[in-house]
This record gives sequence, structure tokens and C-alpha cells, in this order.
Amino acid sequence: MKQNVVDAVNRQIREEMQSAYAYLDMSAHFEARKLPGAANWMRNQAREEVAHAMKFFDFLIRRGERPRLAAVEAPSTEFNSILEAFELALSHEQHITQCIHDLFDLAQRERDYPLQTLLHWFIDEQVEEEEAAEGIIDSIRLAGESGEAMFMIDRELGLRQPEDEEEA
Ligand code: MG
Repeated sequence: MKQNVVDAVNRQIREEMQSAYAYLDMSAHFEARKLPGAANWMRNQAREEVAHAMKFFDFLIRRGERPRLAAVEAPSTEFNSILEAFELALSHEQHITQCIHDLFDLAQRERDYPLQTLLHWFIDEQVEEEEAAEGIIDSIRLAGESGEAMFMIDRELGLRQPEDEEEA
């Protein structure tokens, strides 16, 4: 693989791990706020981000490259409500979508066809990620932030199960 492409994939591994960190931090926040359902949703989201990082990690290995892991930063997610948390999650996913699209542009410019194929999966995945966050934001807005509404939303978020390795 061309070195600039390898470097870009390594940067994306870091982005995905940074995402995992952000969601795990949100999970801790919700545990502390006694919202176990939202905490569960964020914990599963964090796990999914690690699986995304691993897809890129394994891709480099399969291509005969050595992944290089860069430092992730301490998460700095500050929010005052469940609505704000999911708005942050959405804007974070929009950032990741942009990263994936930029990586795809690079893969096209450098004619790295296998990377383009891998990225098709991620392009679809990002549509799902944004859709999921938007759906939750819509239901929170609809419900309002009364205690009863929060209880119902939290219960619903608690239903999220870990995904299979293959789908994650
Ligand atoms: Mg991801």
C-alpha cells in the first residue's frame, strides 16, 4: 500500500478509538445520573467503535502493513441533558462521516481499490449511525424532558443489545 494511504488508515483507527472513548465517557456519565438504559446504549456504541477500529486494523494486517497506534485524548464531553448528549453524539458521527468520505476520496485518488471496497461498508454504516442518533433526538424532543418521559426513553435505550462481531 502507498504510505500516505496507510497513514490515513492509521489516523482513522485513532478516530474510531477516540469515538469509543467519547461514548464510554458518556456511558459513565449516564450511570452516575442513574440512567442505566442510556448508559447501556452508549456502552454498546463504544464497543461498536472498537469493532470499527479493528476492521481497519485487520485490513492493514491483511494487506501486509503494520498498524501504528496513535495516542487517544481524554474525552471532554460536557453535557447537561440526555438531549445534549445525543446531539453531541450526532455531531460526532457527522465528523466521522466526513473522515470516512475524505478517506474514500484518497483511496480513489491513489487507486487503492481494496480500501474503496472496505469503505463502502463504512459509508453505509455512517448513514445508519446518523439515522440512529437523529431518531433518538427526535423521540427525546417529542417526549420532552419530564421525569416520566426520561424514564420511558431510558427504558427503550436499555433494550439495545451488543451487535455480532460481523455486523458491528
Ligand atoms: Mg465508527
